[in-house]
Amino acid sequence: MSTASSCKMTEKSEEVAAKAECDDVEKKAAGNEELLPVLNDLDEAEKPNPLSPEILAQVVEKLQGLGLSTIGSGPVLHSRLSLFEKRKPGLKPEYALDYLIVIDFEATCYENKRAGTYEQEIIEFPAVLIDIRNRCVLDSFHRYCRPVKHRILSDFCKTLTGISQEQVDRADSFAVVLKEFEEWLIRYDLNRKTRWCVATDGSFDIGLFLSWQLKASQLSPPAYCKMFVHIPKLFQWIYLFNDSNKERAGMYGMLEHLGLQPEGRLHSGIDDARNLARICLQMIHDGVQFRPTDVAYFHEEDEKKREYCCKVVPLNKKKWVTMHKNTMSRMNFRK
Ligand code: AMP
Ligand code: MG
Repeated sequence: MSTASSCKMTEKSEEVAAKAECDDVEKKAAGNEELLPVLNDLDEAEKPNPLSPEILAQVVEKLQGLGLSTIGSGPVLHSRLSLFEKRKPGLKPEYALDYLIVIDFEATCYENKRAGTYEQEIIEFPAVLIDIRNRCVLDSFHRYCRPVKHRILSDFCKTLTGISQEQVDRADSFAVVLKEFEEWLIRYDLNRKTRWCVATDGSFDIGLFLSWQLKASQLSPPAYCKMFVHIPKLFQWIYLFNDSNKERAGMYGMLEHLGLQPEGRLHSGIDDARNLARICLQMIHDGVQFRPTDVAYFHEEDEKKREYCCKVVPLNKKKWVTMHKNTMSRMNFRK
């Protein structure tokens, strides 16, 4: 069965499933109101801001005593310790997800044109598969895609992404690459397993680039794109204790907080995806539970009414943290 037809067949049930998952999040949170102060574990209230050198020294000493990493910024070290102290000893770790797939699309672009204000075609499709339980990268998928409407890349786009005209000219169309990606998923049995989720550097990859590309390629949204982890947002919730868009760390900011050096070339999709995977791996080491933070509703019928044909609805931080606490209390693992 073709990807497009299988997508169409399951589309309705997927939409229902995504909504049900959202409702489930709501219900769980509603039934656990008393747990909401768990935010104190990861919250402003408990975290002295800024950390004094004395407190930081104590945190470092404790981390050393526990055999945990002391690399990273003050807020990261503080959260690492907090997260560790919340684990209950003697119980096996439990994970909300088994795998993450970090995706970082690159798309056609022009100088002085803000991303999200015009239709962009995906020209690079990289994906890095993370095995959460074993805390390692299992494999990666990497293809360039040939744009159809904007065949000639702008000089700006080539300089920004490092992608050449020859690379995209030689590449397959997005539809073919998506099919290959799905075959790659099947290799890891991820077509049947549900305990995995896409993770990205923000909402643009799914909410704009993918949604526009699916429309241009006349494909239905695959089930696995209907929820995703917004890595910078999760990072901010866990380590930086605030929910302001303004203070959200970008990929380089997150790497710096974790004491990691950027590798490769910024805006090369595969290098970005690998750097993001390194961030996720350190978060997993620190005991962060990965769960979807955003739900993507694709509105193919409503496109005239909307600027984009996909609306991304963020899950509420408190609800997310409640679920996090419920799972974390059953965890016990070391670096
Ligand atoms: P990124 O994931 O940050 O590498 O960016 C994804 C895509 O966003 C790029 O392939 C471009 O299409 C677009 N983009 C990123 N930065 C810029 C920029 N400074 N100006 C215009 N488009 C950009
Ligand atoms: Mg990128």
